[in-house]
This record gives sequence, structure tokens and C-alpha cells, in this order.
Amino acid sequence: MRIECVVLPGAKGAFDVDIAGGSIQSITPSLSGDPVRLLLPAFVDLHMHADRAYAQGPRAARSLEDAVEQVEAVKRAATEEDIFGRACKLFRRASAHGTTGLRTHVDIDPVVGWKPLNAVTRARRQFEEVLDVSIVAFATAHLDPRSAAGRRTVAEAVAGGADMIGTVVPFHEDPIASSNAILDLAEELGVDADFHIDEKGESQFLLEELTDACLSRKMHGRVTASHCCALATAPPEDAARTIAKLAEARMTVIALPALNLHLQDRGIITPRRRGIAPVREMLDAGVPVRFGSDNVMDVFYPYGDADPLEAAFLASITGHVDDETALLRGVCNGRSRVEEGMVANLVVVEAASWNEAIARRPLPRTVLRRGRRVTEEENDQR
Ligand SMILES: [Zn+2]
Repeated sequence: MRIECVVLPGAKGAFDVDIAGGSIQSITPSLSGDPVRLLLPAFVDLHMHADRAYAQGPRAARSLEDAVEQVEAVKRAATEEDIFGRACKLFRRASAHGTTGLRTHVDIDPVVGWKPLNAVTRARRQFEEVLDVSIVAFATAHLDPRSAAGRRTVAEAVAGGADMIGTVVPFHEDPIASSNAILDLAEELGVDADFHIDEKGESQFLLEELTDACLSRKMHGRVTASHCCALATAPPEDAARTIAKLAEARMTVIALPALNLHLQDRGIITPRRRGIAPVREMLDAGVPVRFGSDNVMDVFYPYGDADPLEAAFLASITGHVDDETALLRGVCNGRSRVEEGMVANLVVVEAASWNEAIARRPLPRTVLRRGRRVTEEENDQR
């Protein structure tokens, strides 16, 4: 397969890209004319909730706590088929936008039982030709990983198909003890850990303690922290010290601009704080920073369409991340270039530049996974 006359990130001019055997064989200057299409590494969205996407509550959430309260009824009412349908819809939308890899949290607790994990693993199988889906067994506020039942449930979730484990740190009675319990289990089970942390604004700042725990366990590069909003309002010296530790621990930090803009500092007046983690300082320090979708049209966030270009756009205007390479790495899990020899997970965007791509976020897009076109049908249906 040849993709003709495309612009590539970080390169001047137009190129023809030849693909065979699932990888890029050659990239040569194009003689075909003026390029109007941009070829990018396919997107990897590292923070989603496939089990709850599209499930809205009775009213718009007034705060993070209000959303957490409302989601209980939504979770109790959902059947496994409901959840399967939501996950499939989310995977279809993600794929149509150019995502070939995603990570989704899946609730595990006594409220939902195994319905979400069963449904999302089934959806993962259904989309295995299209998407690499990684599942985080997500111990909610109703499942304390310190307890014997909690530990058993997390271990069973890994046996049942979860690839990683995590929890929502601030909603546990003893947040640090619960995150330490997850780290203990991650070491025991041989999986990586992924945390929701510091999403309660400046009232709680736990990231430094989590990072210290990862460093003392030598879990370098094996832990992800999402949200990290309190880092933006922590005293500057505390923030700087924590960011240096995050870099040392090679902890991935996922900023979620849409969700944080929507819920952080929400009240009866216009918000004064943006909520987004201090991504520029982290990028400068060498922390692997990613930008994710998080919730899509659900109790926590009524908008969104699983489009990483939208996450990049929001990261750019809210975090003032202007650098193309940093934005691409943020939505392509560290990749920012299209190069010979790389696996042909690619997306063609009908835009003449990266700037135009995030400004217009045009559809449809042509998506290749391991050199095979995967999204014609979804795009045709739009
Ligand atoms: Zn989340």
C-alpha cells in the first residue's frame, strides 16, 4: 500500500509512504503535487471509562462529588448488555478518530460485581482487529484494596482479563494506605498500576507521597497518575520537588483537560482556576505527559467524542502547550514522528498541517492498524 503526497510531522515537504507487512517500508519525497493531507502516528488514548461512557445521570453534575453520587444509580441500573453496548460505541468512535490503542478503567466493586469487566472484555474481543485495548481493574470507593475482600477482587479481576490495576485515591478512607495496597498488589501480581489522584482541587495533595512510594519500591516506569490537578495549586517549592520526583520515577502523568475544565472549581461563580495539571513544567522536567479523553457523554462530562485531536486542542489552549512534538507525544503515547521501520499504526487527517488538524479536527479520517485500513465502514456511516 502506498499513501501518496502527505505531510509528515517534523519534516518539510511532501512524501509518499510505502507500507508492507504491517510496517513502513519507505518514505520518499513525493512528486504528486501539493500535499493537503497529514499523516500522523495513530492515537493512543490512555484514559477512558468504557463501562460508563454515554450513561448520563438525572441532572448535570454540579461538582466532582455530585457526579460521584449520581453515578451510583447509573451503575446499579446498568445491565451487562447496557455496558457492552456503551463500550462498543466508545470503541467505534475512538477508532473512527484514529485511535488504535486505548486504556480503559473498568469499575470493580460490590455495587457492579463483574458486569463491567465481563462486558468490556467482550467488547475488547469484538474490536480486536481494530483496537489494542488495555483494561485497568479500577477499585472504586466501594472496594478498599486494603481489605482481604478487596485484594481478592483485584486479583480475580487480573485473572479475568484486566491488564493493570488502579484506584481512585482520594475517595478512600485512608487514601495513602489504599494506594500503597494497590502498589503492593501490583508488585505481587506483576502488573502496572494506574491512579486517579488529586482531582479534588487544592484541598488534598497526595501525589508526592504516591511518587515517594513508587520510588522506594523501585517501580520506575510502571505507574500512571491521572488528573494531578492539585499540583497546579500546591506551593511552588512543593510542586517543583514533586515534579522532579515524577521525572525520576518515570511516572506517566495523564492530564485530562476537558474533564478538569468542566468539573474543577465548579460552583456558583465563573471558575477562577483552570484545573489542568502544570503540564509545561512537567514536560520541561522530562515527565512523560499524556492527554486523554476520560469521560465521554456521561455523568461526569456531558460532552466529548473520544477524539484525541480534541484533547490536544484543549491541552494547547488551556495548558499553553504550543510544541507540536509535545502534543503529539501526548496523544500518541510518546510517538511524534512517522518513520521507516515503524509499525504502520497511522491516521490520515485531511489537513495540510498539524495546526490545521487541531484547529479543524476534520472527519472522516483514514486509519491504519498494522498496515491494514480499519475505519472505512465507520467513516462511511457518518
Ligand atoms: Zn477517569
